[in-house]
Amino acid sequence: MRNCIFCQIVNGHVPAYKVYEDENFLGFLDKRPLNPGNVLLIPKKHYRWVYDLSNFGEYWEIAKKLALAIQKVINSRSINFLTLGYEVTHAHIRIIPRFDDDGHIDGIRLSAWKNIPPKKMEEIAEKIRKAI
Ligand SMILES: [Zn+2]
Repeated sequence: MRNCIFCQIVNGHVPAYKVYEDENFLGFLDKRPLNPGNVLLIPKKHYRWVYDLSNFGEYWEIAKKLALAIQKVINSRSINFLTLGYEVTHAHIRIIPRFDDDGHIDGIRLSAWKNIPPKKMEEIAEKIRKAI
């Protein structure tokens, strides 16, 4: 879809710190990470909502695979999955590592994103890629 930032990442017009790719799905680091290792998992085809996918089960299985890899390399306390779907109108699962005292208190505060330098982002992406 034109003017969709995630479609532009899928077709290579916008760069991203990719961590996972197969025929149907793409995982990359959120440019506004809610914590280090925050990955967005999207279908390559443009769907409005996560529940519009016919391969919904496969989608979540991959989200789990990424979560376990992230947890291993980021050493987080736990992993949260978030599927609001308002900021970008292309279905996405946010996979968010959680830590004690990470500024999100009892939920996820979308405004509490972390500024991580590009070099560190690339380092994190590489570690996750190797752990999958
Ligand atoms: Zn899209």
